[in-house]
Amino acid sequence: MLSDRTCDVVVIGAGPAGCMAAHAAAANGASVVLLEKHAAIGLPVCCAEGITTFGLERVVEPKSEWIANVIEGATIVGPDSRSVTVYHPKAGYILDREIFDNGLAEMAADVGVDIIKSAPVVGLEKRETIQAVIVDINGARIRVEGRIFIAADGVESRVAHMAGIDTTVSLQNIDSACQYLVDNIKIDRELITIFIGNEIAPGGYAWVFPKSAERANVGVSICPARSGGQNARGYLDKFMARQFPESRILKTMVGGVPKFNRSMPLTVGNLMVVGDAARLVDSLTGAGISNALLSGKIAGEVAAGYIRGEADLPEYPRRFMQLKSRELNAYSMCGSIFVRADDGDFCRILEALDSFFPERKVREVNVPDIILRLVFRNPDLLKMARHLIAR
Ligand SMILES: Cc1cc2nc3c(=O)[nH]c(=O)nc-3n(C[C@H](O)[C@H](O)[C@H](O)COP(=O)(O)OP(=O)(O)OC[C@H]3O[C@@H](n4cnc5c(N)ncnc54)[C@H](O)[C@@H]3O)c2cc1C
Repeated sequence: MLSDRTCDVVVIGAGPAGCMAAHAAAANGASVVLLEKHAAIGLPVCCAEGITTFGLERVVEPKSEWIANVIEGATIVGPDSRSVTVYHPKAGYILDREIFDNGLAEMAADVGVDIIKSAPVVGLEKRETIQAVIVDINGARIRVEGRIFIAADGVESRVAHMAGIDTTVSLQNIDSACQYLVDNIKIDRELITIFIGNEIAPGGYAWVFPKSAERANVGVSICPARSGGQNARGYLDKFMARQFPESRILKTMVGGVPKFNRSMPLTVGNLMVVGDAARLVDSLTGAGISNALLSGKIAGEVAAGYIRGEADLPEYPRRFMQLKSRELNAYSMCGSIFVRADDGDFCRILEALDSFFPERKVREVNVPDIILRLVFRNPDLLKMARHLIAR
């Protein structure tokens, strides 16, 4: 029978952000309770599982069992079926999210984190600051008291909302995604493929992220405000019929992908918000795992520093934004141009990319830098971007 708990740091949500936050806080001397609403960590998987090598390795040393496949490059296919492929040695990984999330939770448990599963946080006890979270354990309520709270509860983010942060996301600021895990296909296992075009995915894109040469996460994300009432699953079914008519669907997942919102506060009182809950998602690609890991790690370190009397909470957004704001803002700007583009614009962007990578190889992916150099070489793109933003 579970009873009330008291600790230094309470983390809500055991996804990548929460596990890293809990691990970092405990590894730096804090006592930590990590609460997860589901009975099993890492399930249900709602992710295409792609991450850049840098995004993973800057935060945590990968274990071989976390990795389903190593990616060596990407192909982008335009609306007229022309494509550009760029190679990048060991560019990224397709993770096995179930094993990965469990691996992170094990790392946290190894440094003393008390992990409680089937433990949804349903309320907060607040005076000037948060005193405790209220957890529903099979219909019974327990209190988990702490000095610092970290909301890592993903896109739904009820905890930040309960603490008074405006977490509302407009239709323009969330993509709607549907994905199948499929087999019985033949693909190049080294390359991810992205399909753009308004018939395929209005305001978004379709992806094929290979887990092997015969199995892949295939999905579509769309901007609901641009889709004329049709949902992501409808677009995905059309894409599958055209691209992989023989495939077998093993799993279906649907979810929302929030866009980066620079005006959302990352701390309020004694609460820090990390990962998807803090909308730390690249607005162009929808990638959120690496920001979840990094924001969780920094928030956990700062929480432990606070408990030792050596840090204040705003150090977390300061440190995170020092590393990531340029990239997040660049993705945000590209995302708002991308969502307004028509198929002709996509073809022009693809032509520019085609001439930008004549050797078809890159050694580093620095998105803000690539955008600047691309626009510098193709001033017409700047005109197009201005025109689209004004639309
Ligand atoms: C279809 C799809 C494909 C995607 N593909 C990619 C990709 O290829 N690469 C990439 O980088 N990103 C991708 N993303 C985004 C990525 O999945 C998220 O950015 C990432 O999982 C964020 O991690 P997190 O820890 O912040 O949140 P989550 O992974 O969502 O974890 C939140 C955790 O909190 C728990 N929780 C929620 N509420 C409560 C509560 N009240 N009490 C206790 N626990 C609670 C949840 O059960 C969950 O375990 C994709 C998203 C979607 C929808």
